[in-house]
Amino acid sequence: MEQSLTRLVDELSSSRELPLEDYERLIAGYSPELAAYAAERAVAVRKSVYGTDVFVRGLIEISSYCKNDCRYCGIRASNATAERYRLAPDTIVDCANEGYDLGFRTFVLQGGEDPWFDDERLCDIVRRIKEVHPDCAVTLSMGERSRASYQALFDAGADRYLLRHETATREHYERLHPARMSFDDRMRCLRDLRDIGYAVGCGFMVGSPYQTAAHLAADLKFVERFRPQMCGIGPFVPHHATEFAQKPAGSVALTCFLLSLLRLMQPNLLLPATTALGTLDARGREKGILAGANVVMPNLSPTAVRSMYSLYDNKICTGEESAQCRGCLSTRMLSIGYTVVVDRGDPRAATMAFGGEGTRPDPKEEE
Ligand code: SAH
Repeated sequence: MEQSLTRLVDELSSSRELPLEDYERLIAGYSPELAAYAAERAVAVRKSVYGTDVFVRGLIEISSYCKNDCRYCGIRASNATAERYRLAPDTIVDCANEGYDLGFRTFVLQGGEDPWFDDERLCDIVRRIKEVHPDCAVTLSMGERSRASYQALFDAGADRYLLRHETATREHYERLHPARMSFDDRMRCLRDLRDIGYAVGCGFMVGSPYQTAAHLAADLKFVERFRPQMCGIGPFVPHHATEFAQKPAGSVALTCFLLSLLRLMQPNLLLPATTALGTLDARGREKGILAGANVVMPNLSPTAVRSMYSLYDNKICTGEESAQCRGCLSTRMLSIGYTVVVDRGDPRAATMAFGGEGTRPDPKEEE
């Protein structure tokens, strides 16, 4: 393994940032040995902040209707073969209640961009969940909305918002999305969410069509600058009814390497080992945790609708009950020496010992 590359990993661990070209050199220079080196350091940093705790989020997939048309996504509007469903508000609240009894303290409401879930309906659902479970966090992942809408949802009690930026390179964004979707809109949404006061999650796919090492380097630079509370990354997985059906899936190993780099960059970042990782590799989520991730998101959606939330092919956990999903993940985490905890799972303060928050001024405070 090239010495110069391990030195870059060391530099990232100590300064928490790298020039764009160095991110690209690391990614282009990927090797299993380099990844193992980065993972070892990332796991040490992760343990200094989170010990062996793994946070869980109960994922409720509330609608497979979508007015958007992302080229890679199985529930895109123009996929006429997609099965569509929408959960009733009472059902969503029931899922959260069931989740609470299973030890979940965060609920993630995710869905396609379904206009049926207007502000009034969605705010009402958020209020109902927060009223019964004031000790829980509600995370929304409902795509692009207006600033006024994000504000209304925040005022109704939503705590966090997940909106992957998908790719930080405009030209690449334009190849993955139809002409009527815009990179600037996506970025505008992320800034609005942050300004309003949400804990924000961005993220990207690894191995999406046309992606290069330079694109991934730009993604790392974007995360470094934006400093989100969360970052969701997972391998691209083709869906048979999209124009990318024949494109190769992303690499589990490269995804894990990027998880390690993100952990070194931001010691307390909330990083999920995603379902897409588990889809491409039976032990993908365990590998994600062992690379530096600290969150898992088991499915709480009613079993009857699960297979219809089909973003990509062969998605796992479509047949199991919520309790089974939760139990299965707890066992998987225990098998690698980690414990799923009953906790809202907010970011914890990074320790000075590992050159955490104390060593670099917060960009917000610099301004
Ligand atoms: N409508 C919401 C939720 C999208 S689904 C939104 O726009 O944020 C959540 C994530 O799944 C997406 O952000 C995307 O990164 C990922 N995804 C979609 N299709 C995928 C595919 N074919 N392979 C892997 N991940 C995919």
